[in-house]
Amino acid sequence: MSTTPQSGFNNFVIRTPCDDNRERLTCADCGWIHYENPRIIVSAVVLHAGQILLCRRAIRPRYGFWTIPGGFMELGETPEQGAQREVFEEAGAKVEIQGLLAVYAVPRIGQVHLTYLAELREPEYSAGTESLDVRLFGCRHSDLPWDELAFPVNHWALRDYLSLQGQPVTQPFVATADDLQQRMSRIEYHPDFPPPDVSQGASSSTT
Ligand SMILES: [Zn+2]
Repeated sequence: MSTTPQSGFNNFVIRTPCDDNRERLTCADCGWIHYENPRIIVSAVVLHAGQILLCRRAIRPRYGFWTIPGGFMELGETPEQGAQREVFEEAGAKVEIQGLLAVYAVPRIGQVHLTYLAELREPEYSAGTESLDVRLFGCRHSDLPWDELAFPVNHWALRDYLSLQGQPVTQPFVATADDLQQRMSRIEYHPDFPPPDVSQGASSSTT
């Protein structure tokens, strides 16, 4: 006669807990509250001899497009350590963090990007598993692959870095209201750099 308790997450309800002011996913059985908070992305504008290090992504979304190295901050590390780790994982480069360049909050997607300036002493780098290529680009506006950048936040970081014109950061940059109107392109991969599964599918379907 008694009902067997269901395992899993099917007793979650959305409600506003007492002493709270917004709705949360809450377990109706035990009251456990699933808090959701913004995620922190750590990244770096990596400089070597007046050049900027960029990675061509080997992962979706935006496979084949250029990005500054970066990724989700992990538990147990400082943001500086996280930025260093991401630079090493994606670009095989050991860098020194110079300071904070920008704090780009993107509320619509619940992200906060902490973007550092980092120095690469020796030009030693190589594509990690998440990169197709790693390259140094010149620092003039025309040197950088603006049309092939993966994400709006890449544009902001490079634009804001160039705007310094060699001056130190006095206050970290933030995303402007216009910046926050931008949306990520829906193009999943660069037409010249199709992911392996796509290029196989394309070659077999064109015969
Ligand atoms: Zn529960």
